[in-house]
Amino acid sequence: MTYHANEKGYYGEFGGAFIPEMLYPNTEELRQNYLQIMEEPSFIEEFRGLLKDYVGRPTPLYFAKRLSDKYQTKIYLKREDLCHTGAHKVNNTIGQILMAKRLGKTRIIAETGAGQHGVATATVCALMGIECVVYMGEIDISRQAPNVARMKMLGAEVRPALSGSRTLKDATNEAIRDWINNPVNTHYIIGSVVGPHPYPDMVARFQAVISEEIQSQLLEKEGTPNPDYIVACVGGGSNAAGAYYHYLDNEDVGIIAVEAAGKGIHSGESAATSALGKVGIIHGSKTLLMQTSDGQITEPYSISAGLDYPGVGPMHANLFTSGRGEFISITDDEAMNAGLLVSQLEGIIPAIETSHAFAIFDYRKFKQDDIVVVNLSGRGDKDLQTYIDYFKL
Ligand SMILES: *Cc1c(COP(=O)(O)O)cnc(C)c1O
Repeated sequence: MTYHANEKGYYGEFGGAFIPEMLYPNTEELRQNYLQIMEEPSFIEEFRGLLKDYVGRPTPLYFAKRLSDKYQTKIYLKREDLCHTGAHKVNNTIGQILMAKRLGKTRIIAETGAGQHGVATATVCALMGIECVVYMGEIDISRQAPNVARMKMLGAEVRPALSGSRTLKDATNEAIRDWINNPVNTHYIIGSVVGPHPYPDMVARFQAVISEEIQSQLLEKEGTPNPDYIVACVGGGSNAAGAYYHYLDNEDVGIIAVEAAGKGIHSGESAATSALGKVGIIHGSKTLLMQTSDGQITEPYSISAGLDYPGVGPMHANLFTSGRGEFISITDDEAMNAGLLVSQLEGIIPAIETSHAFAIFDYRKFKQDDIVVVNLSGRGDKDLQTYIDYFKL
């Protein structure tokens, strides 16, 4: 029994590669090579070197004393907010650009909704001097102007997706079309543990540096590598997958996943995939997703752009249905208040995505000597205007 992917990219009944025939050569090339490349000593050395000197790893594991006092339990924060570019996403884009280079690719494409993954991709393309095209829905381009400016400044081309609802799923369709047309020279960098096999497993392995560091840091601080619980917010699920990775098959460690309930799970404006999702295919993967009774994907909503995704990766769908993970949905209001609380108790302004994870302490009680690690996926600078408008600061 394992909660990792099998050879075909299945987590229980979820995962696989449900792709158009014309995409098969692209994913097949990646599938046949990714594990071998990731095990090459020169790959490991280059990946580790950039994580250390460019991203700034290891990120600290910080004992949050005032937060712990308030909630009467031992809370540690894994500080992914201190990564270069302000969140965990760069761990994956560094890994994938090195993978692309090993595969002889000279051009990168990506799709982005909020722009965070587009910025992380444009960053590593600048670092490596590789051409970068980022697809983005026309509506998202107008909603996320600062990230569009960042991508352009970093030298990327931002191509608007003009079809459908002109948001993330339309940008994804455009990126897939581009990849089909450019199978030889182009690598498609997917930004979370979603998409067809091998992406969910590959992205989880790149993000697994998070739990690897937690193990040694906790051993030093508490004399055990294992927390009682590890908590992370879930959009597609990559920061959570990285934080859980080395604990997945260790049932002494509780796994808690926090989703965005938006204006309320049953408000019609939410992104609470585990509560509302049904089995279906999204982005080439069989997983849980929010859909209408005739199988159309429902437009998700959350105040945090990074959690605003209608599905979850297949690892998380399996953690939910198997009962290995405990899934909690947090509303916009609960998250915003938790973000303010953490700012004022710890001097850390979290990304609104991460604020969802902090909000569970008002609802989920822990024992006084429990060790609870919260993965602090990103910093709140990008969300300042949303906090300002919400709290009328
Ligand atoms: C993108 C993002 C998320 C959500 O993505 P996952 O793949 O679920 O991790 C969470 N937190 C921050 C700060 C993000 O930028």
